[in-house]
Amino acid sequence: MDGTFAKQKGADAPFYLAQGDEVALFEAAAAQDLPVLLKGPTGCGKTRFVAHMAARLNRPLYTVACHDDLSAADLIGRYLLKGGETVWVDGPLTRAVREGAICYLDEVVEARKDVTVVLHPLTDDRRILPIDRTGEELHAAPGFMLVASYNPGYQNILKTLKPSTRQRFVAMEFDFPKPEAETRIVAEESGLSEAKVAPLVRLAGKLRALKGQDLEEGVSTRLVVYAATLIAGGMDIERAISAAMIEPLTDEADIKRGLHDLVTAIY
Ligand code: ADP
Repeated sequence: MDGTFAKQKGADAPFYLAQGDEVALFEAAAAQDLPVLLKGPTGCGKTRFVAHMAARLNRPLYTVACHDDLSAADLIGRYLLKGGETVWVDGPLTRAVREGAICYLDEVVEARKDVTVVLHPLTDDRRILPIDRTGEELHAAPGFMLVASYNPGYQNILKTLKPSTRQRFVAMEFDFPKPEAETRIVAEESGLSEAKVAPLVRLAGKLRALKGQDLEEGVSTRLVVYAATLIAGGMDIERAISAAMIEPLTDEADIKRGLHDLVTAIY
């Protein structure tokens, strides 16, 4: 179970370039004990934002990457056999509730349905977590905050958040940073100069324009950072772009050729 989540504690705030008033909004929600939902495409900075905010607010952070096999027990905890004895082991959500930490459920719609049931009593003013297996009913410690993210772009009708769940959160919309901001972010993250990052960001803009036509998803800021990091490490520009900004987007040879043409038009 420990492999499914990560804990951040007392870290220096990781670099995060704000796009708007999201820092103030998150701080206000945190001060009022309100849960927050971050909507936006993959790789646009949601996870980094939460890590930054947790450090700023000086709260521990449990990050859980949700997947289609993740169940309520993975979040709450379970009895495990240890040295011949059965012991109860708290899951990341229970730990966050006890410690007054932020619990971040990344891509929450991926998780199994029983997870949303657990979240409901935690997201209203009761702030309780019933643990059926131990008979406990935990009241969230001060500082506990539930944050979830999801990507509304995936056109999967089975995997959207039900209104009864989403209407329990203050929601914030994220998108890829504007070109100037993305250039700063990628330069900061990769160590490549802004002058060399700028054409990568222009290319990213062109690739994103193809979303819904040739590409299911546009290129993420994460991938632009990868390309810039490879170039900063000495890789040939075209090779780096191919590996980090084209191959991850599609398997279709025709589409790849079209994308390479976009690269040639920019460089
Ligand atoms: P998401 O959680 O939305 O899938 P991440 O938060 O993991 O995406 O972002 C991917 C990468 O993009 C980060 O590791 C970071 O390098 C970079 N990034 C994106 N937006 C920002 C931002 N506003 N400030 C700093 N880094 C950012």
